[in-house]
Amino acid sequence: MTRDEALRLDEADPLASFGDRFVLPTGVIYLDGNSLGPLPRATIDRVSRVIEDEWGHGLIRSWNEHGWIELPRRVAAKIAPLIGARESEVMVADSTSINLYKLLASALDLQPGRRKILSSPRNFPSDLYMMQGIARTLGSCELVLAEDPAAALDDGVAVLALTHVDFKTGELFDLAGLTAAAHAVGALVLWDLAHSAGAVPVDLGASGGGAGVDFAVGCGYKFLNGGPGAPAFLYVAERHQERAQSPLSGWLGHAEPFAFETSYRPAPGIGRFVCGTPPILSLAALDAGLDAFEGVDLGALRAKSMALGDLFLDLADERCAGHGFRVVSPRDASRRGSQVSLAHPEGYAIVQALIARGVIGDFRAPDVLRFGLAPLYLGYADVWDAVEALVRVMEGREWEREQHRRRAPVT
Ligand SMILES: *Cc1c(COP(=O)(O)O)cnc(C)c1O
Repeated sequence: MTRDEALRLDEADPLASFGDRFVLPTGVIYLDGNSLGPLPRATIDRVSRVIEDEWGHGLIRSWNEHGWIELPRRVAAKIAPLIGARESEVMVADSTSINLYKLLASALDLQPGRRKILSSPRNFPSDLYMMQGIARTLGSCELVLAEDPAAALDDGVAVLALTHVDFKTGELFDLAGLTAAAHAVGALVLWDLAHSAGAVPVDLGASGGGAGVDFAVGCGYKFLNGGPGAPAFLYVAERHQERAQSPLSGWLGHAEPFAFETSYRPAPGIGRFVCGTPPILSLAALDAGLDAFEGVDLGALRAKSMALGDLFLDLADERCAGHGFRVVSPRDASRRGSQVSLAHPEGYAIVQALIARGVIGDFRAPDVLRFGLAPLYLGYADVWDAVEALVRVMEGREWEREQHRRRAPVT
């Protein structure tokens, strides 16, 4: 495809105007929205209003007068349609890692007589570390990692816990199929939607045709554009809510926090999965970030994401052949999330050289270059220009420069 053809695709793109909802620095092509979404324009005013008016003038009155106490639920209600959940099944709280801990412990509780948490060694490391931590602290469970988790399902598995989109390769797992396979042996499932919510339509179960997922967690700062360290979300299917208990039984998950009782009594429904005081400034940013999805057709979003990925891989094949790259993402767009990944032994320095050219992707050890393709604000010509920059970096051997080879703490 030529650059002019890419520009014509942008002209015909029904999502093209949504890019105006974001602050994107000129000269930058942002291919890292899968790691930290960009700043939505509306977030700037919203957060300054919350700081100046609600906090500055309202002070503690704002918990009631500006509905701060209800904010986690209101924000969760905006996430629910993105993941095929009912509003009553989603809550915003804590970080993804902590929510994973809370829901894994709840799932284990619901499965007396079953000891195993089953996952994949390719799962996101924090998820694996949390599972190791829960196995160590609870003592009553055991972590099993299998390259092919479906083949390792048996009647000792309490919960199958996987991430929907592989963080390195972008591979999209069969959420409905694996959920059904787990249920067939009596296991519960917990899906981490960190790399799918906001980019890949998910149907956890609200619609009749949904996957019937038991538990899920996901991230606020990636495709949901909630800002650095934004609070995460969690999902508990309605059918489990009255029996499932949070192991982190903090006061704001109590049925009556302001009764200040000595003993914990869980709130009814999803509210019991809140632990402590919600971070209102970050929640306000996430709330404004989610408004960027208003009016967006999720089917069109997915179609464009797949097309951008196909374009990237086609151009990389055509123009980067001979430079030693290996495509590690599935070629079939229907088996891919909203990112493409290439492997190269000089991956780190190549990513740094690209960043110096204004094309921001990231690197995942040992050798993966990741390019997130967020269809709300990226166009076809952006992808064309990004591959052009990659060609220049390789042809000019820019990755050999000393400044691109020094490792920073965040890659
Ligand atoms: C980004 C990500 C997380 C992040 O967890 P935090 O607790 O927010 O640091 C967890 N799981 C997966 C799969 C992720 O991609």
